[in-house]
Amino acid sequence: MIRYAYICSQILQIYRTMDKIRFPITPRSLIAQVPNCRVMSYQKFAEINNCKLDDVIQICESKTGCTHYDTTKNRYLILLNESSSGNNVPGRKIWTEGHEYGHVKLGHLPIAAVPQLAENGFNNLSMDEFEAEADYFASMLLCPMPICQLLNISSPQDIHNIFGLSYEASDIRYNAYEKWLRSHRKTAWENDMKRLYINRQ
Ligand SMILES: [Zn+2]
Repeated sequence: MIRYAYICSQILQIYRTMDKIRFPITPRSLIAQVPNCRVMSYQKFAEINNCKLDDVIQICESKTGCTHYDTTKNRYLILLNESSSGNNVPGRKIWTEGHEYGHVKLGHLPIAAVPQLAENGFNNLSMDEFEAEADYFASMLLCPMPICQLLNISSPQDIHNIFGLSYEASDIRYNAYEKWLRSHRKTAWENDMKRLYINRQ
C-alpha cells in the first residue's frame, strides 16, 4: 500500500520550510538542508574511485541516480548523473532529484537495510512500492495538483513551462491532473497547500 496521505503531509511540511515557493522546485536546495545527506555527481564519484561512468551506472543500477545509505553512520549519499546524454534533460534531472529525495524523506533506506524490520512487520512495503512512493513524492513535490488548479493549468505545455517537468513527464502529469480534477474530494491538505502558496509566492 502506497502511503498517499503520509506523502502529501510530508510535502506540505517541506513547503512550510520554504520562505518563498517558486517553481520549478529545485530538489537539490531542499536536499542540502538534510544534515546527514550528501549529493555527488556520477562524474565526481567515478573520478574519486578511479572508475568509468558506466561502472557507476552499473553500481547504481540506474542511468540517472541512486541513493546509498550507510547504516553504521546513518548517512545518505545521493548520486546523480549530470550528463545530458541519453535524453537526461533538465526536467528529467529534477525528477530524479525529487525521487531520490523522496527515498530519503520517506525513510525507505533504513527499512530496506535492516531485513529484521521487514520480517517483524515494521515494513509491509515491497521494493516496487518504495519506487512507486518515491515517484508519487517527486510528482507532488515538483507539481502539486492543488497548485495546478490554482494556476489554471490547461495543457501539458503549461506543466512543462511552469513546473519544469520534461515533455514526457508533463504529458503523464497532465493526464493525472485531469483525472484528479474529475474524481478528487476536497481535503484540508489541498486547502493548506493553496493557502501556503498564496502567502509565500
Ligand atoms: Zn528509486
